[in-house]
Amino acid sequence: MLTSVLLSIIANISILSTASYIFVKLIPKKKVYTLTVKQQLLMIGFASLTSFLLMLFAVDLPKGAIIDLRQIILILLVYYVGQKVAIPTAILISLLRLTFGVDPASIRTAIMYIILGFLLPLVCRKLVKQFNNKYVVLLILNAICVVLIALNSYVLYDSFLVYILIYSIFLVLSSLVGILATVFIEDLLKSRSLYLNEKEHAKMDFLTGLYNMRAFNKKWRKIEGDQTIAKTALMMVDIDYFKWINDSYGHANGDFILRQVATILKVGAHDNELVYRVGGEEFCLILNDLSYAEQKNIADNIRSSVADKEFLLENGTRIKITVSIGLAASDQNKDMKKLYRLADRCLYMAKNQGRNKVMGEVMVDE
Ligand code: GH3
Ligand code: MG
Ligand code: MG
Repeated sequence: MLTSVLLSIIANISILSTASYIFVKLIPKKKVYTLTVKQQLLMIGFASLTSFLLMLFAVDLPKGAIIDLRQIILILLVYYVGQKVAIPTAILISLLRLTFGVDPASIRTAIMYIILGFLLPLVCRKLVKQFNNKYVVLLILNAICVVLIALNSYVLYDSFLVYILIYSIFLVLSSLVGILATVFIEDLLKSRSLYLNEKEHAKMDFLTGLYNMRAFNKKWRKIEGDQTIAKTALMMVDIDYFKWINDSYGHANGDFILRQVATILKVGAHDNELVYRVGGEEFCLILNDLSYAEQKNIADNIRSSVADKEFLLENGTRIKITVSIGLAASDQNKDMKKLYRLADRCLYMAKNQGRNKVMGEVMVDE
């Protein structure tokens, strides 16, 4: 008897640990996310399957009662995902309970899980507002579940002492396992968040806050494979005589000007997510699905915005600078390598013709 109880407990803990790991894997690898309907269905299916497994390895008690850690699954869903997933899961858990036999005990449990499905999200919202500590919230939610489970099974016990003893042990054990699962999930989420931060940093240029060459290359490959983007253009922007600016006003002022140019580019861009710093004082903008006239207009506006602005130096004085722009457009052929070369050639022409100019060309298919 004791061996089978112990085995059931170990099985429940193992299933919950594995499920916690898979649960975190099911959360999209993005900093801010909302689950799609498909992801929600996947999570509901997975959580229900896990609770079914937990029931299979439940501790069997007299008169058809079973004890397992199903409520932990529900609590974790309520806390980490919300009621949209928790309520359908609770309904499925209650239906699955009936597959173990329809008797008074299973019917009462089924009804109880539906009640828990609706009750826990409400209580959780209130607790989260009141307590700043997720472990306190989860422990209270578990205590509510255990009390309801215990009340639900009250009629099955002849001895009050045995009843109190069993459910006290259950409360302590499920609280411990709940904390363990939460620590595990939090640890996985923390590693994931660190990884996402590092991934984001690897794409950024720290000086200007723009995306860097690595991000540009990645985006470029994506655009080449994206059938929904019909035409694209590359705009290469290079600050004129930047070496002279550095030599005259110092490197720190050069950096300061780079940041101000980056702001102008972001404001003037068609999509401010598609602005890249691809070299020291060279920037690249990707312009998708615009006519050549619109692309040219954006380039002209950026050139004149820079030429009209008085750039601030660290000592408060202001200077004028200019940029040269090479614009390479493509109508159908999205060969980004060719486009890049063409933009570079156009930029070279703009420099050659006296700088502070926009030179553009539409790529012709060979
Ligand atoms: P052109 O008009 O032909 O483009 O001349 P230029 O002087 O702008 O071009 P060149 O390529 O000769 O010089 C670019 C300068 O940009 C040289 C380098 O010192 C400076 N530079 C590159 N990266 C940075 C940076 O991060 N900060 C600062 N302040 N300067 C940089
Ligand atoms: Mg330059
Ligand atoms: Mg340059």
